[in-house]
Amino acid sequence: MERKLVKKPPNLDQLPDQFIYYASRTDPVFQNRSMKMFNWTEGIDTLFAEIPIPNDLIICDSCNSRIENERISLLVQLGEDPNINYVRQALCYRCDSKYFSNFIHIGTPDPDPKPQIEEMNQDGL
Ligand SMILES: [Zn+2]
Repeated sequence: MERKLVKKPPNLDQLPDQFIYYASRTDPVFQNRSMKMFNWTEGIDTLFAEIPIPNDLIICDSCNSRIENERISLLVQLGEDPNINYVRQALCYRCDSKYFSNFIHIGTPDPDPKPQIEEMNQDGL
């Protein structure tokens, strides 16, 4: 997904290429999502199934656990045009702190994070 998501905070000279942004779970980035499956036949990509994702279903892209917090950590990458931000991953706070603690964090984390819910392991079991 790409859109202008983050304005440069006044305490930074410029946004880094990648950073963590705390978004509301009602942010448009989580609205009207779907999982699309394609057929690849004779060099032509054809959509054969599109499964809507409930707006309030947010899964950590790193560990696959369900995220219940009100504020969600997003790994954001700036485009060549700094007015375009690419959301690369939604992260639970555990994976955020485990893998991205050295990244600049912008915004306000959830003041009262909920316990992690393990939905599935890396193998989807
Ligand atoms: Zn995680």
